Amino acid sequence: MQQTVESLGFTRIKRVAPIATTTHGGRAKCLQRLIRLDLPVPKTVALSFDAVHALAEGQQPDMKALLEVFGEKQLLSVRPSSEVADWGGPNAVLNIGMNAERHAELVQTLGQDAADTLYLRSVQAYAVHVEKLDPELFEFDNSMPTSDQLKAALAAYVDETDEDFPQEVEVQLLQVLRSMARAWAGTTARLLRQAKGAPADAGLGLVVQAMAFGLGSGDYGTGVIQLVDNETGEPIVKGRFVRQSQGRETQVNERNVIYLTKDERGSSLEEELPEVYEQLVAAAKLCRVKLREEMEVKFTIEDGKLHIIDAIRVPRSSRAALRIAVQLAEDEIISKDEALCRVPARSLTELLHPQVDPAGARDVACRGIAASPGGAVGKVVFSSSAAQASEARGEPCILVRRETAPEDIRGMHSSVGVLTERGGVTSHAAVIARGMGVPCVVGADVRINSRAHTLTLPDGREVKEGDVMTLDGSAGEALFGAVKMLPPSKDYWYLQLMEWADAIRDIGVRANADTPADAAMARGFKAQGIGLCRTEHMFFEGDRLTVMREMIFAETHEDRREAIARLLPMQRGDFTALFDIMHGKPVCIRLFDPPLHEFLPSDRAGAKELAEALDLPLSKVTRRIEWLSEFNPMLGMRGVRLGITFPEIYEMQARAIFEATVEVSKHGDPVVPEIMIPLVSAKREVELVKTQVDGVAAAVRNETGCDFTYRLGVMVETPRAALRAGDIAQHAAFLSFGTNDLTQMTYGLSRDDAGRFMNAYVQQGVFPEDPFHTLDVDGVGELLDIGAARGRAVSPNVTLSVCGEHGGNPESIAFCRAAGFDYVSCSPFRVPVARLAAAQLVAEERRRR
Ligand code: PEP
Ligand code: MG
Repeated sequence: MQQTVESLGFTRIKRVAPIATTTHGGRAKCLQRLIRLDLPVPKTVALSFDAVHALAEGQQPDMKALLEVFGEKQLLSVRPSSEVADWGGPNAVLNIGMNAERHAELVQTLGQDAADTLYLRSVQAYAVHVEKLDPELFEFDNSMPTSDQLKAALAAYVDETDEDFPQEVEVQLLQVLRSMARAWAGTTARLLRQAKGAPADAGLGLVVQAMAFGLGSGDYGTGVIQLVDNETGEPIVKGRFVRQSQGRETQVNERNVIYLTKDERGSSLEEELPEVYEQLVAAAKLCRVKLREEMEVKFTIEDGKLHIIDAIRVPRSSRAALRIAVQLAEDEIISKDEALCRVPARSLTELLHPQVDPAGARDVACRGIAASPGGAVGKVVFSSSAAQASEARGEPCILVRRETAPEDIRGMHSSVGVLTERGGVTSHAAVIARGMGVPCVVGADVRINSRAHTLTLPDGREVKEGDVMTLDGSAGEALFGAVKMLPPSKDYWYLQLMEWADAIRDIGVRANADTPADAAMARGFKAQGIGLCRTEHMFFEGDRLTVMREMIFAETHEDRREAIARLLPMQRGDFTALFDIMHGKPVCIRLFDPPLHEFLPSDRAGAKELAEALDLPLSKVTRRIEWLSEFNPMLGMRGVRLGITFPEIYEMQARAIFEATVEVSKHGDPVVPEIMIPLVSAKREVELVKTQVDGVAAAVRNETGCDFTYRLGVMVETPRAALRAGDIAQHAAFLSFGTNDLTQMTYGLSRDDAGRFMNAYVQQGVFPEDPFHTLDVDGVGELLDIGAARGRAVSPNVTLSVCGEHGGNPESIAFCRAAGFDYVSCSPFRVPVARLAAAQLVAEERRRR
């Protein structure tokens, strides 16, 4: 029985041929679209994934049937067509079908030189890609006449293979197809594409196309055209045309190049071949509208006639991607929902921080965990005081520490970037840096020698204090020297996209903000309130740290009362400022949760400084530090345990909150403060604190003669609190899940130390992702579901939210929305990411409907 082309898995791409990205790959599908637009695309046949797989397995297809599509005497090209362009594929092979007979004919039509060049390239490509011969054996001095190069190439082929260059077109094409199919099936190619997210069994399609000649005497050449700038997304006719060229030469060949439009460089395609130019621009515009995307269109001009060879998505920066999506929607080519879905939510962080220019040279010094995005260039310093001195000199610096402690906060403020040897995505340095918007890499593969003020890199090299480095917090890398930065931008396109996002979003987004500066930033990013104000963070800076330490260090009730009395006006002032800035938007204030180790000096110098500040002998301070030190500070005297043990601390905070409420409500928007109890594990803890806070509220109402309301809620961050959420919700207006501690305690993983083995765990597939970064929906997620359901069963109107770092993670937001949470809260710089990610969930649903 005569086999048809289709039954072999070879499909002539016509307007109605059954071509799909999932069966034939993206290139084949795109070519079909171009053909449907009646663009001048040469005859093309697509090989399905199955057909290519069969070829790799050694099946012998009917090449005659395939070649019949093209007719005799046609030169062919073969290009890969994977499902996702980024998964790659073998190199294209051109000029298949060249032999002595064809060469002789082409000498007549195209001229001697063009015919020689085509034959030479055909031999080169076949030798290298099919026979896997050394490319150097087929490279010749360009001063040699092409005809001599051709002779030398044919001779080299015989030398290396003991056979003549195959003259049968069938043989050439079959071998090219087979070598490409096998290259895709090889282990290296598989691992490379898997690293880019391809499944292990991803298929490859191949596209066989009749070649339009880019070489010949007259107007011949190859080029590319696009209608936008790759970096900015600005509309512009851009591209190049290279006379006497084919294939990738458009990108690499600087000889014979001319640009498309008239400009200062002189000649242009627009002037030299105006009709072709017009046809080309019209084709590119048609592609934009009909393919609903900015495309880079590849073309060949053969004897003055235009052929469209291929089109790919214009490669683009994050900034360009955003502008292109909004512009396409404004031009009504795509819907607003589609525009929202086309911008990767995470890419917004790139627009809001300065970024390391991807075009710059990257000399990587060390790698770690990308803890806070953005890029910065500065001189390396090893201590907080050196950072402050550097800032005072006006020299940007990168603070390098083993890990950070509260006394480093000032140094972090003075630095443009932070690099630590220890830690994970929720460790102190990471959380603080993200809050500040300072790029940060933690858990780096370095050794810090604090005494010598040096950093030993994995390859043994050393970095000294004062050396200039570039920190790339988005990539988790530190680079040698100063690499160029791209500035942040909140332009019209960004604002427009965010307006569309907020119009459809159905889950709230608040910010984690501890200070008035954070709150101002949160408002700038359009957060709907503050979801977590970590009040102990208000004491990380300056003299305030000392007052806080005085309270922690107090041995007697009186001493503590005295320290607390000094804290009260500070806290009242803090809350007044936050309420003022937030203009009546909700502010959720978490009562103190100071893991003690974050507030104790970590070395002798720190202890000495503290002894001076407290006017105590060093020995006493050291003894007290020893007494207060805990084996497991993250599971020790934290959160509500401190509040229950020393009730006067939370009492002071409640008073400060209520006095600020009265103060601000008098002259501004009415304030309904939210007070959150941290690290709860039992209902009784909530009852005790509630009674106390209610008492303070009554007293302040009495003293001021002003009425106010407030909401008391619980932070669910221990597994027991999630399991007992039904009990707890009886006394709580809201439950906010602290997924940092909940992850730590569910896994039994230290959030400060997990960085040491996290890479090994993720690489070996123990964890699919770092659970501190992406919510573990199976385990921690189940606790969230249980907590939410039990809480709602008892108190249907209880507000549910997540305020751990996961609140800014797009995948985790999807989980929270599906679980019916009211809002997520994340660090200010991640608020736009969360707003867009939340809107995309709605837009996706509407598009599926
Ligand atoms: C949490 O545990 O998720 C949380 C938000 O609190 P912190 O990071 O301050 O412990
Ligand atoms: Mg916590």
